[in-house]
Amino acid sequence: LWLVGMLLLTIGRFAIARAYREQSVPSDGENRRWAGYFLMTTCASGLMWGLAGVALFHPESLPHQVFLCFMIGGMVAGALPLQSALAGAFACFLIPALLPISVQMLLQGDQIHLTMGLMGLVFGAAMLSSSLRIHRMLRESIELRVKLSDSIADGQRLQQIANVDALTGIANRRLFDDALAREWRRAIRNRNPASLVLADIDYFKAYNDMYGHQAGDDCLRLVAQSAAKAVRRPADLVARIGGEEFAVLLPETSTEGAHHVAELIRRAINALNIAHDNSPVACHITVSLGTATLVPGRGSSSSALFEAADRALYVAKRRGRNRVASHAPPNGTLA
Ligand code: GH3
Ligand code: MG
Ligand code: MG
Repeated sequence: LWLVGMLLLTIGRFAIARAYREQSVPSDGENRRWAGYFLMTTCASGLMWGLAGVALFHPESLPHQVFLCFMIGGMVAGALPLQSALAGAFACFLIPALLPISVQMLLQGDQIHLTMGLMGLVFGAAMLSSSLRIHRMLRESIELRVKLSDSIADGQRLQQIANVDALTGIANRRLFDDALAREWRRAIRNRNPASLVLADIDYFKAYNDMYGHQAGDDCLRLVAQSAAKAVRRPADLVARIGGEEFAVLLPETSTEGAHHVAELIRRAINALNIAHDNSPVACHITVSLGTATLVPGRGSSSSALFEAADRALYVAKRRGRNRVASHAPPNGTLA
């Protein structure tokens, strides 16, 4: 009968555990309800083991009694790590499981039984104190895990803030500098060309003066978005590197490729058709772009690429703006 009772209880507990696991994400209230079920069935299981200590107690056979004590003690020890996760669960199991057999032994009255009964009680107290410590450790480790994942998320958010230009939402100068240094090293290793396009809005001061700073900011956002849309390869990077200046890093891209991308950007910004009646170049916002392409030699610095693109930009400005100028290779080092 005891065995049948134990079997039914175990099947019931399995069914509850399964139903719990099949839940999607239980709310706090639901979790409390499930914890209640767990406590109740744990207590019922403890009671069953306690019942074994009385119902299966053989009054005349000491080996039989010792076996029963060890079996119940073993169950209690095995339950310690499993049930310490939920506060109070282990006590709900241990007290009803261990008390009846310990009392039963004490009631026998002779020295051996008294000693064993007392040892049972001491064992129970030691297990309870271990359970408290394990519970505290588990709780601390869960709290630490939550804190760690929060701080990882914070770090990622900070990284995002540190790398993104707040006004336009594209990469900022810092991310651009990192990417340029990285791509430059890669280009040296692979002996590939690296290209850079610098773009500067024409007569932007005059635009701000005429339409106001707020309109200037809106214009910067639109220009940034259309420049970002013009590049397609995953390693390409469009960044705002100054007030109305943008850089487009194009790894593994030839002079013609860079010129092509720059021309795409120029046309896209013309097509935005943002009115600029204060511009001597056109009746809308325009940009001037300079491109440079280098196959970097060992020990060369990425600033050579930046300076070459800046010189080309200056040429585009001098030749009348709203155009692309490409840095002409003075010697064989340029692609
Ligand atoms: P150029 O055709 O030679 O490039 O002339 P420019 O007026 O565009 O160049 P200049 O360097 O003389 O002026 C840049 C102006 O860009 C200055 C400032 O009014 C404007 N500017 C810079 N940063 C911002 C910004 O964040 N928001 C707004 N609204 N304007 C900015
Ligand atoms: Mg400028
Ligand atoms: Mg300008």
